Amino acid sequence: MAETTEPVTMDKIVSLCRRRGFVFPSSEIYGGIGSTYDYGHYGVLAKNNIRSLWFQAMVQERDDIVALDSAVILNPRVWEASGHVSGFTDPLIDCRTCKLRFRADKLEDGRCGRKPSKRPGEFSECDLTEPRQFNLMFETHVGALEDASSLAYLRPETAQGIFVNFKNVLQLARRRPPFGIAQVGKSFRNEITPGNFLFRMREFEQMEMEYFVPPAEAEQWFHYWVDARYRWYTDLGVRESHLRRREHEASERSHYSSATTDLEYLYPIGWSELEGIANRGEYDLTQHTQHSGARLEYVGEGGERYTPHVIEPAVSIDRILLAFLVDGYDEEIVAERERTVLRLHPRVAPVKAAILPLIGKNAEMVEKARALQQELRRRHVVEYDDGGAIGRRYRRQDEIGTPFAFTIDEQTLEDETVTVRDRDSLAQERLPIGGVRAWLDDALERDWKSPKSE
Ligand code: ATP
Repeated sequence: MAETTEPVTMDKIVSLCRRRGFVFPSSEIYGGIGSTYDYGHYGVLAKNNIRSLWFQAMVQERDDIVALDSAVILNPRVWEASGHVSGFTDPLIDCRTCKLRFRADKLEDGRCGRKPSKRPGEFSECDLTEPRQFNLMFETHVGALEDASSLAYLRPETAQGIFVNFKNVLQLARRRPPFGIAQVGKSFRNEITPGNFLFRMREFEQMEMEYFVPPAEAEQWFHYWVDARYRWYTDLGVRESHLRRREHEASERSHYSSATTDLEYLYPIGWSELEGIANRGEYDLTQHTQHSGARLEYVGEGGERYTPHVIEPAVSIDRILLAFLVDGYDEEIVAERERTVLRLHPRVAPVKAAILPLIGKNAEMVEKARALQQELRRRHVVEYDDGGAIGRRYRRQDEIGTPFAFTIDEQTLEDETVTVRDRDSLAQERLPIGGVRAWLDDALERDWKSPKSE
């Protein structure tokens, strides 16, 4: 029936996001600000869905993980203890000729300012400096004075806010290892080579969970979380051909980590880290114990005490959304016309159903459609649209990934049935209008697999 055209390029995703109001370059009327984006209506809805699906899996459906929302600006000593002040750096190289800056360990991703060369160092006049360490934390000042005593940082990860609250949660939530603390919130990194749209931003929304375990169980829980997080993506329809686990070599791992596995997605820029799962050992709790004097350890009822080890799955909503958009983006020819469709999992899709009166000027159809919209919107995000030809309206919904469309037509006025159109198969069936609500609830609960070829 349909012919699919590949490949999905980043330009196509950027253009769809812009055209349909998912994502805008931030402060665009002033020329933008590097690698910072604003989310529009559909972007916000999709992000909300991703956040709540993560929270459902990590907190709501479990007895052993609780939520936290710590501040963005913490006491700067937190970042000394965590090692970020001295070590959260990337190696930076300057080009004395074109004045551009590059990450020494990602030179292949850099773009030289001179043509026809592509990579820094390729052009005959390139004059690169030796690498020097550049700290990625954004600095700010707290209070009226701007001196060293008021220096503070915007958090570069949410994890440290969790570690410094370890004692509070342990006591008040009455938990004992294994247990976890989950947090979602903005993180900030002054990335040297930002770019690639939502993949590397200077301000992004992280979702991290620190899972505290008895030391002897660390390895087992590490594997558990790698598998659990992999399954979360495939359950949400991400194609296994585009998702893989990659274990870090010892040389790549952070100083505190004894094992790290990335879940990589095949983005248009190639296989790249979507989520990282790290075995952080006892590093963080030990560091904060030493620097703060508070003993961050577990004391059992029998008096046994130990510093739990930490397993951390860490990801950003932004990289997940980009992976879902790339995985779902499809162009096909249907009845000799091209359609662009986002084949998102129905639970991820920003709008769950469109409600369309076939003839926008027919008062009876409009009335019935509005009544159906009223009924459905109390439970789901739905969209009413009566403007223009029905085919155009379907295509608008396809582009934002709306999985179902209910159309109110002449027959509805006679027998109280509507058609439901499936975004992926384009199949249409008739349903009693009174059963639409239950049908939609049910459809959103069903398993969904990407129809894009593996
Ligand atoms: P990279 O090597 O790509 O810079 P990282 O290893 O520094 O990433 P982590 O510190 O492990 O990243 O961060 C955990 C997760 O946070 C990443 O897997 C990614 O999903 C997300 N993340 C990190 N930096 C960014 C960013 N600049 N923009 C968007 N998401 C990010």
